[in-house]
Amino acid sequence: MVKYKPVYKVSISGQEIGYAKNKNVEETIKENILQNTSKNIDAIDIKETAEYELKLVSRTTKTDEEKITEKLEESTKITYKYYDIALSNQTIQSVNTIEEAEELINEIKQSNKEELNLSIIEKYTQNEEEIATTQIEIAKTDIQEKIEVKKAQIAQQARIDAMPDVNGIKLATRPVTGTITSRYGENSRIRSSAHTGLDIATSTGTPIKVVSAGTVTFAGNGRSYGNLVKVSHGNGVETWYAHASKIYVKAGQQVNAEDVIAAVGSTGNSTGPHLHFEIRINGNVVNPQNYLY
Ligand SMILES: [Zn+2]
Repeated sequence: MVKYKPVYKVSISGQEIGYAKNKNVEETIKENILQNTSKNIDAIDIKETAEYELKLVSRTTKTDEEKITEKLEESTKITYKYYDIALSNQTIQSVNTIEEAEELINEIKQSNKEELNLSIIEKYTQNEEEIATTQIEIAKTDIQEKIEVKKAQIAQQARIDAMPDVNGIKLATRPVTGTITSRYGENSRIRSSAHTGLDIATSTGTPIKVVSAGTVTFAGNGRSYGNLVKVSHGNGVETWYAHASKIYVKAGQQVNAEDVIAAVGSTGNSTGPHLHFEIRINGNVVNPQNYLY
């Protein structure tokens, strides 16, 4: 009668952990990881090595695969791999495989005539939570949207660059969009002299953007101008924003191009909500429409 069975005594780093029926604990761990986690796995590295020693033990002896697996898993490092898609060296999306990344880049290049600075960056991490990959169709739509934004920015910059500067100062934006109701130089029965600015009518409360960076030199009651903001841009160039319902800046404040400085209103000598916009060079008014794109 046989009272013994062969098993493996398993030691990890010289420490006896228990018995196993087979010598395949590492393979089982790797198979489990590959089955249960993401497709981003690049490498599975079990730092500690199990040593197996064949033993004959009593047939009733239980084996300890679970305990051995647990101990080895503690020292297991998984390295994950994914791919960033960069536009002009700025990451805009991540995908799981190199095939997806290449497919994306090819399709995007095919549907855009322009030269695009797109690149693939191979990324590694041991923290699975860092991986923020996107399903390829969603990534494609998102990248195309970002490219459209970039194209619009480039086109806007080109329009700005093509416009004449005001004594060396480039205007980055219109202060508001609306209907031009009175042009520079026009005469009107509500004024005693030719119009010193451009009137753009739009609804009360519409944000007024400063057309270029500078310093606020006046913010307050400008008599016939109503609530008035003046911004100095250097080189003797000043812009004026009149008839505001609200003013959001103070004299002395620095502003960046396109900052909202006031809201459209009808204060002062005005017959309805509009922005009266002036450009002055060394104190002399000039026609704003010569400088706005
Ligand atoms: Zn006006």
